[in-house]
Amino acid sequence: MLPREVMEKAQKDFLNYNNMGAGLIEISHRSSEFEQVLSDCDSLLKELATIPDNYKILYMHGGAQMQFSAVPLNLLNLSPSKTASYIETGTWGVKARKECSHFGNSLTLASGAETGFTEIPEIDPSTVDPESAYVHITSNNTLYGTRWTALPDFGDIPLVADMTSEFLSRKIDINRFGLIFAGLQKNLGPAGLAVVIIRDDLLGSAMSQTPALLNYKTCFDSHSLANTTNTFAIYMMSLVLGWLKREGGVDLVEARNESKAKILYEVIDDSDLYLGVSRPKDRSAMNVTFNLQNQELLSPFIEQAASCGLYALKGHRDVGGVRASIYNAMPIEGCEALAQFMLDFEKKNF
Ligand code: PMP
Repeated sequence: MLPREVMEKAQKDFLNYNNMGAGLIEISHRSSEFEQVLSDCDSLLKELATIPDNYKILYMHGGAQMQFSAVPLNLLNLSPSKTASYIETGTWGVKARKECSHFGNSLTLASGAETGFTEIPEIDPSTVDPESAYVHITSNNTLYGTRWTALPDFGDIPLVADMTSEFLSRKIDINRFGLIFAGLQKNLGPAGLAVVIIRDDLLGSAMSQTPALLNYKTCFDSHSLANTTNTFAIYMMSLVLGWLKREGGVDLVEARNESKAKILYEVIDDSDLYLGVSRPKDRSAMNVTFNLQNQELLSPFIEQAASCGLYALKGHRDVGGVRASIYNAMPIEGCEALAQFMLDFEKKNF
């Protein structure tokens, strides 16, 4: 969900943006009005995520998965053997590694597959191939409800992180990364675009076959306007960032996110019916996953929850069970309502 006040503002602006007598999606991406939206979005993001000056912000088409191709196309040239290493903590990490194999040598440095991706694997950084152009991680695993707490350190080898399902939900030190990308659709706005934050020394090494629209340098040089961008998505993102700033920024939202998740994990831990999917020390604050002891109760749980206004709880088809995605815009009351429903459901049925 997106913040209600953002949705209402967008609705109000839709037919008449800034008293122009036209909506934002009707005007040129090169108009001064849209350029203002873009630069507002840049400055809000820079402030909220504390992005140092040597990192650049790009808005790119194709959502998060397009970055699975863009990252190797732009960075593999940094390795003499065109090698990159991937830590697979879920389906998205596996997909990213497979995509890289079209362009070079993609290695699995570690995988959580053996535990069904319910744990973040232990890493010995000395085992990384020293020729790796980068090491790719998925910082929050949307399907399984796990997240990295301590980041691995590979010295001079840049860390690349897919932060799609947690960007701006907790404080991170951007300096620890060579590149971060996130599809907009969880904490930032509508689907279809990704935001990329790249350290400037990593710009300009793209492989010769890189399509212009996937080339980070082309994107940077054109201020993400190499072609007609999705102006509406960037406008929505700027509204979401404005909301986040008014809420008190990432620090405050992080504290709220931790409290929201705790409400649900406490119910799971005290219950005989609900079983948490992820290892407690790796638990995500964005995606709370659990199963039911009695599988026959799963469908009634999802159906009855929906009839109480608690939607989209069905776990991903690869994992099953229940997944409560409680992104930044989910109010604490939403988690309290789900917790109460879980307690009542257990009492009535188990
Ligand atoms: N990475 C992660 C961590 C995700 O959660 C998702 C989507 N849920 C993706 C990648 C894929 O995003 P997209 O559909 O924008 O390609």
